[in-house]
Amino acid sequence: MPLHIQRDVKEIDGILNEVLSIHSPPVGRCRLLSSGFSPTHALNITENIIGHKECLGCGNCVDICPVLAREPSRREKTEQRTSMALESTVGADCDQCGACILVCPQVDTTIKNYVVNHRMVEVMSRLQQRIGDEDEPDLDLFLEEAVSQP
Ligand code: SF4
Ligand code: SF4
Repeated sequence: MPLHIQRDVKEIDGILNEVLSIHSPPVGRCRLLSSGFSPTHALNITENIIGHKECLGCGNCVDICPVLAREPSRREKTEQRTSMALESTVGADCDQCGACILVCPQVDTTIKNYVVNHRMVEVMSRLQQRIGDEDEPDLDLFLEEAVSQP
């Protein structure tokens, strides 16, 4: 079986940067920019889905999203666990942290590497500022409490 060819980011860096810059969950668009199901996928179906880019409904992006973690009531809008559900529950309040991209099995590793290498420094400094906000949990305090537990 030939190796699955993933998306060459040099071909899409313009559109990818646009996707990463808008205030909306980016995972669905990154999935569509990816190369789709691998010939070596392990789904137990007879249909040929090689190259298809559908959301698997795995819910990874929903589970990792910090906006939904901070405000669980948003999840009550839908029981779906798809990228569309993420868009309807988070919308323009997206933190642009990129976490949903990194956990999606349908996004090419080449795109994930691009996000880590080109966006994470910016994201980390933004999150660092947020940690200093009074409304946000103090992660240092949380860690101190966690390690002091018997
Ligand atoms: S995980 Fe991050 S980038 Fe994705 S929708 Fe939530 S806040 Fe936005
Ligand atoms: S992480 Fe799962 S639910 Fe979210 S977009 Fe990817 S395949 Fe769909």
